[in-house]
Amino acid sequence: MAPTEESGAHALRDPAHHPLQNLVIIGSGPAGYTAAIYAARANLSPLLITGFQKGGIPGGQLMTTTHVENYPGFPDGILGPDLMDRCKAQAVRWGTKLLEVDAISVDLSHRPYTITTSDSEIIRTQSLILATGASANRLHLPHEDDFWSRGISACAICDGATPQFRQESLAVVGGGDSACEEAVYLTKYGSHVHLIVRSEKLRASAAMADRVLANSAITVHWNAEVLDVQGTDWLEALTLRDRSSGGLNQLAVKGLFYAIGHTPNTDLFQDQLQLDSKGYILTRPGRPETSLEGVFAAGDVADAEWRQGITAAGSGCQAALAAERWLSHHDLAVTVARDSIDPEPSGTPMRTATSDADNYSQDLSWQKGAYALRRLYHESNKPLLVIYTSPTCGPCHVLKPQLKRVLNELDGKAQGVEIDIDVDQEIAAQAGITGTPTVQLFFNKELKNTWRGVKQRTEFRQAVESLL
Ligand SMILES: Cc1cc2nc3c(=O)[nH]c(=O)nc-3n(C[C@H](O)[C@H](O)[C@H](O)COP(=O)(O)OP(=O)(O)OC[C@H]3O[C@@H](n4cnc5c(N)ncnc54)[C@H](O)[C@@H]3O)c2cc1C
Repeated sequence: MAPTEESGAHALRDPAHHPLQNLVIIGSGPAGYTAAIYAARANLSPLLITGFQKGGIPGGQLMTTTHVENYPGFPDGILGPDLMDRCKAQAVRWGTKLLEVDAISVDLSHRPYTITTSDSEIIRTQSLILATGASANRLHLPHEDDFWSRGISACAICDGATPQFRQESLAVVGGGDSACEEAVYLTKYGSHVHLIVRSEKLRASAAMADRVLANSAITVHWNAEVLDVQGTDWLEALTLRDRSSGGLNQLAVKGLFYAIGHTPNTDLFQDQLQLDSKGYILTRPGRPETSLEGVFAAGDVADAEWRQGITAAGSGCQAALAAERWLSHHDLAVTVARDSIDPEPSGTPMRTATSDADNYSQDLSWQKGAYALRRLYHESNKPLLVIYTSPTCGPCHVLKPQLKRVLNELDGKAQGVEIDIDVDQEIAAQAGITGTPTVQLFFNKELKNTWRGVKQRTEFRQAVESLL
């Protein structure tokens, strides 16, 4: 039987020291998961470190987008998080072991290579595939931190549905495909969208640029840059500078979305591997081999040019095949026989039904919707974790199973409810939700904690346990 994510993770935590691995893959975007599928099918029993908070989220950048229309095999398109769920299920089905932690350091000075994780585990491996992708850039404005998640966001797709942005003027900074996609997407929620572009033209594909320029709900500010942000509790305005005249002006907006490119996640490898001047990993031209024997790179971390899901997946395949050849050539691989030639199907993910008077239960550990929230808030004497999500929010996708795991570990001593802020707008507004995912912990009708964004499971568990 194919190991599940749970069995893989626990099996690894038990021994104080991990056995020497054939192949460790760092990163769970399209590159990492594709490498894992190939390596697992080659009976190498790869260990994949998914990442958690450092350099993105499990599933990578496609978790922050809606419709992926250009990935072959999905003629009607597929949601980014759904695509990544499928990649993960395929990798696990063929025997990939997953560790849901960050790699916090690597030692590439000698073989076997070592990786230290955010759980303080030390993993030794014969070979490595680096697939850590790239992270969204920030502007670092003087008052950026004051309004981060209070009007400023790096993910329109995740936060656009937030009540505070509805029917308000919003701004997007950037001139590439992401900026254009986000500007068009935000016209669904805002009253008007301003696209702030540093130069005189858009760098986006012609089709994407045309969609922006033809949209009367979008105004493009050419040759403009954001100098700072202002507001009280929430963002209210931007100071813009006209780069040709030097003139300053104020633009009243309630939302500012960054879409200004990415930086490769290579800080772990600085001074250990050859990187290019922008920090991307240098590989042999058109191949996955890095400057070190047995270390391969795949996806956006080594690709400043193409940066697509399918190119990342393709290079993940190359890296796994190259690693397999390298391990065999040096007689280093210890292959693991599978129980069955055809692993069991991965199955369809279960969705929680929205609770109503018919299906609500006081005892269920996880329910969905306003009805369940109201009943549990007033009637339950257990700590209650409420996660506010939006339909296209990839980070929500990552956090929900983590919360469910916490509740399982607590064995019924606490409960959880999911609120879709698109469906239950009034509740989201009353709760003061400024972005998704947000988690609130209630006990005896009192709000005890609020967390914004993806956090480690232990934080939620400790907060709940302190109330028991
Ligand atoms: C908004 C948006 C929309 C897009 N739309 C499309 C599209 O429609 N079609 C398309 O083909 N492409 C699209 N792309 C581009 C595509 O998402 C990327 O090219 C692709 O995800 C790159 O894959 P990757 O595996 O190299 O890296 P990423 O997807 O960036 O994944 C990197 C992984 O590494 C992990 N990681 C980082 N640091 C560490 C660490 N220290 N320890 C452990 N793990 C770590 C992260 O958690 C993440 O899982 C889009 C990108 C964005 C931002």
